[in-house]
Amino acid sequence: MIPAEFDYAVADSVEDAIQRLGQGGEDAKLLAGGHSLLPLMKLRLAAPSLLIDLRNVQGLSGIERANGGFRIGPMTRHAELAASGELHGAVTAAAQSIADQQVRNRGTIGGSLAHGDPASDLPAVMLAFEGTLSVQGPSGSRDIAASDMFQDYLTTALEPTEVITSISIPALDGYGYGYEKFARRAADWAMVGVVALVKSNGGTCEDVRIGLTHMGSTPLRATAAEEALRGQSLSPESIASAAEQAAEGTDPPADLNATQEYKRHLARVLTRRALDAAAA
Ligand code: FAD
Repeated sequence: MIPAEFDYAVADSVEDAIQRLGQGGEDAKLLAGGHSLLPLMKLRLAAPSLLIDLRNVQGLSGIERANGGFRIGPMTRHAELAASGELHGAVTAAAQSIADQQVRNRGTIGGSLAHGDPASDLPAVMLAFEGTLSVQGPSGSRDIAASDMFQDYLTTALEPTEVITSISIPALDGYGYGYEKFARRAADWAMVGVVALVKSNGGTCEDVRIGLTHMGSTPLRATAAEEALRGQSLSPESIASAAEQAAEGTDPPADLNATQEYKRHLARVLTRRALDAAAA
């Protein structure tokens, strides 16, 4: 439970962080809230030689309206998302469901997305919102669509010397939502989580987006269920029928909590509940 020895630096700008990342080589790591990285270091599953703390970098924290949606700083804490009166309810519900108050007070959205854990709550929400990450590296800035971000278990499209500088999501005004998370104990990670976003037009499903947490090595969209519901009536029957397809194309990890088949069953049940709530 004691990490290997490491050096520690506090960056004073994004450029400074990028430069230090470059100098530190592959073993250098950014530090945000530390609530994913430090446990890995304590278990000796990660042993960075240098930690570069982003806490003093101006402009990386906060939520602001931009381009008809929201721009969120990567250092914005889960607690701030959870308490936001402006963000879409799906984002606040997901943030409220993360662990306990202590974790929410330290953990950040940027750290959660960069870590790329398929069991985390916010990555599937980013997928459903079709958000975008702006990142900066030694050769400039670029945008990464959420759909391109999560490549494999704890593996993202981020280069080792890139810093997430902002996260953009559309407002999705007019979309109802449901957020369902099944865990063995209160404040646990999701065994399975589902976010559903539904736009209704006179009782017909104009658009639907469904994000799945912990149903594979990356967060996923339940595209078969989405396609089954789009353009259909939002009746309980058509929602139940679409939700039956929620586990199509998934490969959830079997573990001590549940078999794959049980998790697929959970995905179908939770998707139906999330869609029911979103349609209502
Ligand atoms: P850190 O641990 O500081 O960093 C994580 C990774 O992101 C590191 O590789 C770091 O280098 C990189 N990184 C950080 N910021 C940037 C940036 N701006 N640009 C590029 N790379 C960056 N999460 C959930 O979603 N749901 C839960 O139920 C949940 N339960 C938890 C329970 C416990 C007991 C603990 C300790 C954590 C739990 N978490 C949960 C994880 C928590 O949400 C983490 O805080 C989050 O996943 C990582 O955010 P962080 O700011 O702590 O990142």
